[in-house]
Amino acid sequence: MTGSINHNNSVDMPGSWYDGNCRRCDRLAGFLDAVKIEHPGYFCKPVPPFGDHSAELLVVGLAPGKHGANATGRPFTGDYAGVLLYQTLYKFGFASKPVSEHVDDGLVLHNCRITNAVKCLPPQNKPVGDEEKNCNRFLSSELSGSDVKVILALGLLAHRSILRSFAMKLSSRKFGHNRVHALEDGVSLVNSYHCSRYNTQTRRLTESMFEDVFRTVQAELAHG
Ligand code: URA
Repeated sequence: MTGSINHNNSVDMPGSWYDGNCRRCDRLAGFLDAVKIEHPGYFCKPVPPFGDHSAELLVVGLAPGKHGANATGRPFTGDYAGVLLYQTLYKFGFASKPVSEHVDDGLVLHNCRITNAVKCLPPQNKPVGDEEKNCNRFLSSELSGSDVKVILALGLLAHRSILRSFAMKLSSRKFGHNRVHALEDGVSLVNSYHCSRYNTQTRRLTESMFEDVFRTVQAELAHG
């Protein structure tokens, strides 16, 4: 496995965190090939985690967006889903700038890393169960032996993948917006609705609700 792609502060990751040449999921690998033909300038590979290697906060999203992370190569960058996320990370001191534009924009995350439960762009933004499972090896190795104390799951799929990576029963922790779950070794899992365009535009997730989630994250980091 390869592990050393370095997008500005997207650290030199230990090998098993990330494999830029992964083609374990036939459907996703084929889809990336097709999107690359349609958009030759797009990244169109598994998108690596972005941020501080020794971070205590890990933010877990769903999967790269077609014209966002899949195009730019950085999670939540280039499409609407990242707007509220980076703005809020900046407000709470986890990012050096409120906007993530592209991999060379100089943005640095502080004590925070962002990753996706599924690293490749899925058709219709919906990975199937086997793809979630296949990709979980990367999230598991990203978490094992890390300094992460708080994991922020953006949406149910991220929540499920995190529990899976801790080998916990999915029924043991029920997803709920701004809910905190104790995991192993003092790690806390905080849930939030995903900051997608749909959720923010329908006001299922408002700015103030998302800030409340980050207050919860901060409190959990302070406890640890
Ligand atoms: N972009 C990402 O990188 N992840 C998401 O979950 C959504 C958009």
